Amino acid sequence: MKKASIVTIGNEVLSGQTLDTNAAYLGRKLLSIGIPAVSCYTVGDEVDLIVRGLELASGDADLVLVTGGLGPTGDDLTRQACAKFLGVDLQLQDELLQKIRKFFAMRDLQMPEANTIQAYIPTGAKAIENRVGTAPGFTACKNDKLFFVMPGVPVEMKQMFEESVLSRLSEFAGKQAVAVRKLKCFGTGESKIAELLGDLCQRGRNPLINCTVRAGVITLDIIATAGDKATAEGMAEKDEKLLDGLLGELVYGRGEQTLAEVVGKELAKQGKTIAVAESCTGGCLAKLLTDIAGASRYFKQGWVTYSNSCKSSELGVSADLIEKHGAVSEQVAEAMAQGVKKNAGTDFAVGITGIAGPTGGSEQKPVGLVYISLGSDNGCETRRFVISGDRELIRLRAAQTALNMLRLKLEV
Ligand code: ATP
Ligand code: MG
Repeated sequence: MKKASIVTIGNEVLSGQTLDTNAAYLGRKLLSIGIPAVSCYTVGDEVDLIVRGLELASGDADLVLVTGGLGPTGDDLTRQACAKFLGVDLQLQDELLQKIRKFFAMRDLQMPEANTIQAYIPTGAKAIENRVGTAPGFTACKNDKLFFVMPGVPVEMKQMFEESVLSRLSEFAGKQAVAVRKLKCFGTGESKIAELLGDLCQRGRNPLINCTVRAGVITLDIIATAGDKATAEGMAEKDEKLLDGLLGELVYGRGEQTLAEVVGKELAKQGKTIAVAESCTGGCLAKLLTDIAGASRYFKQGWVTYSNSCKSSELGVSADLIEKHGAVSEQVAEAMAQGVKKNAGTDFAVGITGIAGPTGGSEQKPVGLVYISLGSDNGCETRRFVISGDRELIRLRAAQTALNMLRLKLEV
């Protein structure tokens, strides 16, 4: 199987000023054409560091994709470094110079002298056109390893990759096809999922099953590799069904689906409405619900009742109840949901109260304690959760957990 390595160049990536979205994009694209990336190196704007990055990358893989450092300024050293790595000089390409001059002329500008450097590429390399900016890319070969060098600016890199590099790579991948399916799960931890899947998660298995978790959402990537697309698709589909059966109601969706999307679609389908009252999540649940276009079909209203007094004045939660059980309690969550249901007259109503932290926790009521009550025409179902993470994560996971309760209620 052919393998790839990625080299991203730039001090701004190392300093954290720029997030390495180029590597993420290329990793995804490579996988989709059946050439998995096995390593990624980020190096600063120095010739020797770039040369070292190219050596390491070509040691790992058959194909090396490079981005960044093709600009006209003194810190753009990728051309020089590639020439050094390839053991050749840089050569002026008249055709490239004409193109760069034309790029400026079309914008009624005179080409600054500094841009001349962009018309140089290593001897023996082949230029790749940049239709969005001035920096051409290039491709070269060394010891049977194939290199593609592209600009750092994401739109330029993507355009160049999709228009000129991708077709060359499909050919390069040869008889190797990949199919990817994604299952989205919620309601348990990664380790429980791993336990349920057992040997299916073994490294080296084909299809390979990758598990990632973000704000409580567990994504299972099923990556099947085969000699042709149809076989790969068949293998991925078979595993998708297998996992679906093993995980049952933990699976809420496929592909890039979010919980809010799945819940929203079902509410619309069943012609049901919802309103929410939030304390610790501060409107996060209402935001997730209304992030979905067309949410007005089912989302009626949201209250952020942060203080005790407004839990009483807005939702009719009795002050005695709050006094007796505390604002973060099963009883108050339930009274909030009841208040919402009464005020908004919806089919479903959610009340959330909890401690998002980092302060305010106690032995009995630790940070992360959240009560969620889901009201429907059959009364309220109220549950207690202790969510781990920082304030942001606790709030997001609490809102997602409420959506998941609603999903299970709707039997999606
Ligand atoms: P240009 O011709 O525009 O100068 P370049 O090839 O020299 O392009 P860089 O100077 O390295 O590219 O980067 C230009 C901009 O592109 C950076 O300021 C940064 O915002 C963005 N960029 C560079 N590398 C990456 C990366 N790996 N991921 C995301 N963005 C990046
Ligand atoms: Mg640069």
